[in-house]
Amino acid sequence: MTTDFTATRALFDLPEGMIYLDGNSLGPLPRTAAARVGRTVTEEWGKMLITGWNRAGWMDQPARIGDRIARLIGAPAGSVVMGDTLSIKVYQALASALELNPGRRVVLSDIGNFPSDLYIAEGLLRTLGEAYTLRTVAPEDVAAAIDDTVAVLLLTEVDYRTGRRHDMAALTALAHEAGALTVWDLAHSAGAVPLDLVGAGADFAVGCTYKYLNSGPGGPAFIYVSEALADRARPALSGWLGHEAPFAFDPRYRPGRGIERMRVGTPPILQLAALEAALDVWDIADIHDIRAKSIELSEAFIAAVEAACPTLTLASPRDPIQRGSQVSFRHPEGYAIMQALIARGVIGDFRAPDILRFGLTPLYIGLPEVLRAAEILAEIMAGDLWDRPEYKARARVT
Ligand SMILES: *Cc1c(COP(=O)(O)O)cnc(C)c1O
Repeated sequence: MTTDFTATRALFDLPEGMIYLDGNSLGPLPRTAAARVGRTVTEEWGKMLITGWNRAGWMDQPARIGDRIARLIGAPAGSVVMGDTLSIKVYQALASALELNPGRRVVLSDIGNFPSDLYIAEGLLRTLGEAYTLRTVAPEDVAAAIDDTVAVLLLTEVDYRTGRRHDMAALTALAHEAGALTVWDLAHSAGAVPLDLVGAGADFAVGCTYKYLNSGPGGPAFIYVSEALADRARPALSGWLGHEAPFAFDPRYRPGRGIERMRVGTPPILQLAALEAALDVWDIADIHDIRAKSIELSEAFIAAVEAACPTLTLASPRDPIQRGSQVSFRHPEGYAIMQALIARGVIGDFRAPDILRFGLTPLYIGLPEVLRAAEILAEIMAGDLWDRPEYKARARVT
């Protein structure tokens, strides 16, 4: 298949004149999403009310949409389910993995991991008792730190700051050799790079859908459990919808079959409707084409920025194979520079302490926009146009 990028772009509604390089943080609005959500509100909620759970298939949505996500991450049907937010899914996956490896007490992660993943791990380990520890090492030292004390390797495949990728297959193999299980966070991978969870032998994987999968703010997360573990993993967040028979209202918890047990409570039906609309783009987009185009865009962007902005340092790996679908540069005035860019219609984001981050998303961004963004950045740097008090005042969300 050869993806027609004009056709994929036509499926998104982007404001005129804006160059949106932040789809790695919040994907844009799919053109059909408003109507799809509107139908769910008026035709389903409005007319069916409670009967919508059966008649409109609401109860099956988390698994049905999970199957569509599964196709994008190299997982079989029936191995992925939707719900909650990514932070919750990290907790669930880590708790189950730890329980499956009862003789060990160490969770290994890297210091570049997204804070929520580390905070959630710390919080969970605290409730499990003092014997449990979270060990974090530099990303490049993870392989060497995997030893026979590690219960679970908890990693985010694409680093949110730098875009650096871990080698999922190699690290999973090392973890398994050492007797550890793996939890992979795919927040910056799903919809950005081809993935093969089964081929890599991943045990658990989690991810969100509002980044490269364009489900909108607050869109639900997903969780994957390998076939080998799906009926053995015990859910720590044992909610009623993960029960084998929720409507038996059994006072005793019995986990549901396979991935169904990773459901917790009532699914967010309106958000799932938006996600369903957003996933339609994958009927005409091939993830391998997306990856090839993303590399082309990122190489062009890096070359243009480096040629014109000598004070910006590349924070992402230079080898495109080692990067996800984002490019980051460092500068001590990164925050103000990003505000100056945003004021000129180029939307990226800033990540403390000094990272300017740009998501390059070929579904709706092409080479002319990427080059234009580099030009605007070059103007800002050449004229110190960022050096104004209004660009230095920090907003709540950066
Ligand atoms: C975006 C992101 C999150 C956010 O978690 P939410 O619960 O959806 O807010 C967590 N982990 C990683 C690695 C992320 O990139």
